[in-house]
Amino acid sequence: MRSNFLPFSRPSISDEDISAVAGVLRSGWITTGPKVADFEQRFCDYIGCQGAVALSSATAGMHLVLKALGIGPGDEVITPSMTWVSTVNLIVLAGARPVFADIDRDTLMVSGDSVENCLSARTRLIVPVHFAGAPVDMGPIRRIAGKKDIPVIEDAAHALGTEYNGEHVGRRGTAVFSFHPIKNITTGEGGMFCSDDQDVLERIRRLKFHGLGVDAYDRQAQGRSPQAEVLEPGYKYNMTDISAVLGLRQLERIDEFNRKRTELAMRYREQLIDVDEILPLSDPPSPIKHAWHLFIVRLDIDRAGISRDDFMEELKHKNIGTGLHFRAVHLQKYYIESMGIRRNMLPNTEWNSDRICSLPLFPEMNDSDVDDVVDAIKEVLKR
Ligand SMILES: *Cc1c(COP(=O)(O)O)cnc(C)c1O
Repeated sequence: MRSNFLPFSRPSISDEDISAVAGVLRSGWITTGPKVADFEQRFCDYIGCQGAVALSSATAGMHLVLKALGIGPGDEVITPSMTWVSTVNLIVLAGARPVFADIDRDTLMVSGDSVENCLSARTRLIVPVHFAGAPVDMGPIRRIAGKKDIPVIEDAAHALGTEYNGEHVGRRGTAVFSFHPIKNITTGEGGMFCSDDQDVLERIRRLKFHGLGVDAYDRQAQGRSPQAEVLEPGYKYNMTDISAVLGLRQLERIDEFNRKRTELAMRYREQLIDVDEILPLSDPPSPIKHAWHLFIVRLDIDRAGISRDDFMEELKHKNIGTGLHFRAVHLQKYYIESMGIRRNMLPNTEWNSDRICSLPLFPEMNDSDVDDVVDAIKEVLKR
């Protein structure tokens, strides 16, 4: 057994990253400023998108876009239940109704058909989620949405470096990325809103900082009038330069990080082939580039004779950390009670919600860490 605990994720922070952050702390300007502007520009260059707005989180980006689109009571938003709770919570907080599209059993993503089944006269927005580093098949979803003129906002929290049909996720349309510490790059906490629609970008820039249309750096450092005016009530979701400089440093290494993630994922795949109780995800049809944000497996609970939760617990006793991405949102207490949820409403989502488990995956892991995880899994399963 491993002598030390292997966490399920750990950010890669170099000494240069730490020096860069210290540099900002010493500079006299620590909130939104030149580093944020630079980070937004470099992010656009990497993704190939028209514009980007750095924010305090991806959740903030989703909140702002719901506000910008005027989503409220009487409106429906289509999204999967196999997602992080933030989007669904925000839809409910806006007074609107989440409508859950079921996912493909082996990619964990919504399809054109599952989204189409959820359309109604009240549908105002579609939020597909790119899962684990693979892209949603956006073609059919864009076609369905386009026909009815319904906006699509892609949850790209898992998808930095992911490509779909030879293009980076985020290049086309509107997408929100996350830089939470477990994501493929981190800014501590943070997010990036990308769009090819200048009006949407303008609106998000304004709403992220009190509805002023300019941020503190614009006003103080670039010689504009300090009397900025409220154009509409906004929020306070700006990213700081402390975070942005870390993001700049991390972004330089994203391809290297993702290459390492891919190598580790391939090793897991190879070594788990003959473990019958473990079912990996499948890749969506090519051409795609996978960012390997997560290495998710499903436990065949009937064959293994052990629940997923016990499986995770036993791995922990063997010094292996795991994650759960995600427990279906519609099966959580508030949603069961408030929406009158019955089991079997979303068969593929529920099947996976009971069986998924994310194995350790981060760039600083090495091959023998993967081997330790696989050995521990084999030991747990042969009890
Ligand atoms: C992490 C995550 C989010 C939220 O990102 P934050 O930056 O923490 O707000 C949203 N959706 C998915 C699918 C995520 O994994």
